[in-house]
Amino acid sequence: MQELHDEEFEQTDCLSCANCCKTTGPLFTDKDIVRISKFLKMKPQQFISTYLRIDEENDYVLQQVPCTFLLNDHTCLIYEHRPKACAEFPHTNRKKFHQITNLTQKNVAICPAAFNIVEKMMKKID
Ligand code: SF4
Ligand code: SF4
Repeated sequence: MQELHDEEFEQTDCLSCANCCKTTGPLFTDKDIVRISKFLKMKPQQFISTYLRIDEENDYVLQQVPCTFLLNDHTCLIYEHRPKACAEFPHTNRKKFHQITNLTQKNVAICPAAFNIVEKMMKKID
C-alpha cells in the first residue's frame, strides 16, 4: 500500500483538486486545537467557539465546509499546523489499512488519488 500510495501521490496535484478540503472537514484533536490556536494567536476556547462544533461522535469538527482555512488558490492557511487528520488524508498508507475499510470507502468517493490507489490494489489482488 505504501508503494501504491507514494506512486499515486507523485503524480497527483492536490492544489488543482482540494476536494477533501472543500467537501469534508477533518476532526480536530486537543493537540491540533492547542497548536492551531497558538499559531492564530487565539485562546483554544476562542478557536473552538469560532470555528468548531461537536459532531454525533463527540469529536470536534469544522462548523462549515469548505474548510475556513482553504484559500482561493487551494493552499491551506494553517498548512504547517494543520490537523493530523489532514496531514494523513486519505490514509491509504496506514500500516493497518485493512482495518479502515469503511473510512476508505468514504474517502474514495471524495479523493481521486485514493480511488486510483484502491483500484490498483484491487488489480494486484485479482
Ligand atoms: S485545515 Fe487545511 S488541509 Fe485541512 S481541510 Fe482545512 S484547508 Fe484543508
Ligand atoms: S481529495 Fe485527494 S487528490 Fe484531492 S486534494 Fe485531497 S488528498 Fe489530494
